[in-house]
Amino acid sequence: MKYLFSIALLMLSVGLISNQTAEEKVNYFSNNAFGNPVTGKAGEYYNGVTYVAYQGEKEDPYVVAYDHKKDKWRGPYKAGTSLLGKTPGRKIDNHGKPTLVVDGEGYIHIVFGGHGGTRDLGENKLGNYHDGKQIHVKSKRPMDISEWEEVENITPFGTYSQFMKLDNGDIYLFFRHGAHRSNWVYQVSKDNCRTFSPKVSFLKTKPSNEVNDWDSWYVNLQKGEGNDILLSYNYHFCKSVKKGHDGERHHCYYMKFDTDTKQFFNVKGEALTLPITKEYADQKTLAINTGDQWNHIGRSDLNDEGYPHISWYEGAHGGKRHGGPKQLMHYQWTGDEWVGGETNVPNKARGELVAKSKNEVSYLLEDNENKLGNVAWWESHDGGAEFKKSKVLLEEKGGKLLMSHFIRNAHPDAKVIVTQNIKGTAYSKVYLLGENGPIKRKQSEADVLQLN
Ligand code: ZN
Repeated sequence: MKYLFSIALLMLSVGLISNQTAEEKVNYFSNNAFGNPVTGKAGEYYNGVTYVAYQGEKEDPYVVAYDHKKDKWRGPYKAGTSLLGKTPGRKIDNHGKPTLVVDGEGYIHIVFGGHGGTRDLGENKLGNYHDGKQIHVKSKRPMDISEWEEVENITPFGTYSQFMKLDNGDIYLFFRHGAHRSNWVYQVSKDNCRTFSPKVSFLKTKPSNEVNDWDSWYVNLQKGEGNDILLSYNYHFCKSVKKGHDGERHHCYYMKFDTDTKQFFNVKGEALTLPITKEYADQKTLAINTGDQWNHIGRSDLNDEGYPHISWYEGAHGGKRHGGPKQLMHYQWTGDEWVGGETNVPNKARGELVAKSKNEVSYLLEDNENKLGNVAWWESHDGGAEFKKSKVLLEEKGGKLLMSHFIRNAHPDAKVIVTQNIKGTAYSKVYLLGENGPIKRKQSEADVLQLN
C-alpha cells in the first residue's frame, strides 16, 4: 500500500513538472487589440512569414510576424503613433486602423491614423475634414518589424486607407480623400513606396440635387485578372445634419480598373470617364438597385469564366446610424445580366467570397449567433441559391468575432485575421486563422496585457 502511494506521488510530481516545462498554448497570439481593431487589407505572407497589423492601445498601429517554418512569433511591436485615440474618455474613432503591405525589397509599410484629417494640416482640395492624420511608416530593415520610421510622402487627408499589391510589383494606395464629402482616390508606387504618383479621383463627391445633401461612396477592392483591380461600391446619401445625417447607403455598383492602361471599364466592357458621379454611376456601373433597403458593401470575386460575383449586407435601416443592413446578398454576372439575391446564411454573418465557377461559390464567414462565435466555410453548388455550412475553422465562446479580408498571398495556415472582444474591456484577442484552425502561441507571449 505504502509502495503504491509512493508511485502515485511520483506520478503526480512528474505530471506537475511536465506541466511547468510544456507551457500552455492558446489560440490567440495577442490580447492588446483595441476597439474595432482590424481593417480589410491588414496582412501579407512574404518569404515564409505572415505579417499582421492591427489597432492597439490608444489606436496606435501594432505589428506581429509569424515564421511558419520555425513556428516562431515576433511582436507585437508598435509601428507608429496615431493622432486618434489620445483624448481620454473620448469615443474610440476606429477609422485609423492600419493597412499593411510588404514591398519588393521586403520592407513592411503601414498606413494608418486617417479619419479625414483636420484643417490645420492644410487645404483639402478633394474633400472635407474630420479628424486624425493619414500617416505612412516603413520598417527600418527588411522583414524586421522591431523598428519603424515615418515616411512623409502621402497626404494627411485620408480615410479607409487600403494597400493593393499587384503581381508586377506595383503598390496601389486607395483611400477616401477626407471625411464623408470627399472623392475616392488612388495613387500608385512603382518604386517600393518611395514615391507615389499624383492622386487620381475615381469617385466624385458633390452636392446632390437637394440643398446641402451630398453624394458619397464606400468602396470594396479586390484583385482581378492580371493587373486588374475590381471595385464594388455603394452610395451614401450624405444628408445635412439638420436633416438628420445618418449611415444611409444603397445599391451596388461594379467596375474594373485595368492598371496597365489606367482605364476603368463597366461590366459590359465600356470604357468609363473619371471621376464618376452619382448620375454617371447610375447610368453605367449600377449592378443592383436596392430601393429603400440600406446596405453595407461586401466582397467580390471573379469566377473561372472571368465573370464577377458581388455581395453586400442588406436590410431595413431601423433608424440607427450603423444599424440595419445584415443579410448577405449574392449576385453574379452571366455575361448579360446580374442574377442572384438574398442568401440563406445566418443573419449578420459576414466574410470573404470565393467564386470558383458560376455554380461553386463559397464564403468564409464570421458568425456570432447563439453566443458561440465561429468562423466557417459555407459552400454553394448552385451559384449561391443555397449555402451549407461545412468546415469550421474557429469556435470561441465570449465576445464578438470580427474578421479581416483574406491575407495577401496567404499561406493555407494563415488566411485571415480574426479578433474577439474581451468582455468588459475595449480590448480584443487576435487570432491568425487558416485551414488548420488558429496558429497557437505560448500564453505568456500572447497575454501582452494583464487584463484579469
Ligand atoms: Zn455622410
